[in-house]
Amino acid sequence: MSGHSPNGLRPAPRDGRRRVSVLGSTGSIGVNTLDVLADQGGAEAFEVVALTANGAAEKLAAQAIRFKAQRAVVADPAAYRTLKDALSGSGVEAAAGPEAVEEAAAAPAEWVMAAIVGAAGLRPSFAAARQGATVALANKETLVCAGDLFLDAVRDGGGALIPVDSEHNAIFQCFDRAQTSAVERIILTASGGPFRARTRAEMAEMTPAQALKHPNWSMGAKISIDSATMFNKALEVIEAARLFPVPQERIEVLVHPQSIVHSMVGYRDGSVLAQLGAPDMRTPIAFALGWPERISAPVARLDLAEIGRLDFERPDLERFPALRLAREALAAGGAAPTALNAANEVAVAAFLDGRIGFLDIARLVEGALAEAGDRRLDCLADVEAVDQAVRAACLGRATPRARGAAGAPSIAS
Ligand code: NAD
Ligand code: MG
Repeated sequence: MSGHSPNGLRPAPRDGRRRVSVLGSTGSIGVNTLDVLADQGGAEAFEVVALTANGAAEKLAAQAIRFKAQRAVVADPAAYRTLKDALSGSGVEAAAGPEAVEEAAAAPAEWVMAAIVGAAGLRPSFAAARQGATVALANKETLVCAGDLFLDAVRDGGGALIPVDSEHNAIFQCFDRAQTSAVERIILTASGGPFRARTRAEMAEMTPAQALKHPNWSMGAKISIDSATMFNKALEVIEAARLFPVPQERIEVLVHPQSIVHSMVGYRDGSVLAQLGAPDMRTPIAFALGWPERISAPVARLDLAEIGRLDFERPDLERFPALRLAREALAAGGAAPTALNAANEVAVAAFLDGRIGFLDIARLVEGALAEAGDRRLDCLADVEAVDQAVRAACLGRATPRARGAAGAPSIAS
């Protein structure tokens, strides 16, 4: 570890109580982050500047009171009254609306966890980067949609970017930034998700409840579906290509069902460095919070004798077209990754609602990608324009055309 972030910048000084914010604090990563903060001393050790959520006002209020946060913000204005009431007399300021979430992200802090799900996290992630905080980035969609623009925002803000996604956090730990030319390849591991061993015919019939059951990780609904389709790995290939100076042809995907090896970096002398750990996001979160030091994390210790064996296999691009689509999007560049992400978000929501079948998710994304072109994205507004146009187009298509014998709706293609 060179003591520098991937963008070559230095960590913020650590005098007194560090000011921290958690964007998306009520979600899976958010709750794990608060757990790590509590383990490190909670409100005694940190000045919690802001906690944010979408609509879970009561849960957010309880967190804000426990961590003595300065403010709590819900993105959904309809949740404001509940939040305000739940915070009454606590001294925590309440606010609502997407702009208020963005303002919370911009409120001066040394460390910001960006853990909102989807493109809704774009503006808040940018706000955190621009103010010069160390951004612990779980919201991979920001890097997928706005890669270089986001890295520019981190650089201009003078802060640092630490990837929290377990694979990228693993690569960050194994990547020798003093010798980038000695790095031959990155090996991203993938659990393969709940349908790893299913045929396409079986996948066609899978319900949201089946797709939500991840074998190793407990996560939010969107990323759980992304794991089942392997669009999560598709987003992560793009994320890795943005974060590390390695061309996409040398970013490999390796299926590893146990999720113990979180990813690897291969060097020209044949060495392969891996980071291992129990599948628990509190390890990468603690790494991001402590960086460049290592702090303790309240996680189970890895017992390889107990696990006994680790398996690896090549991904099947026929059954999981997401991986091919990610490479096509990266090769096309410009708006293509943004379009891939937007179409996937719409498709996942439609699948969860029962409007389309499981295999329709990739079909919808493939269609959007074919139309995306390679338009250049020069600013965040360009990214948002593409995101919205693709969403509108996909929403129109994500309606059931016919219900098959098993009741799985399928999209008009
Ligand atoms: P989640 O659904 O459990 O939580 C999402 C959080 O974002 C919640 O606090 C929710 O209230 C908030 N939110 C949702 N919509 C919002 C909106 N429109 N505006 C503002 N806030 C909104 O999701 P998660 O599993 O915690 O994932 C969060 C991010 O971290 C995603 O980008 C995901 O890909 C990434 N990630 C998650 C994991 C994991 O283990 N859960 C692992 C790696 C990366
Ligand atoms: Mg991951």
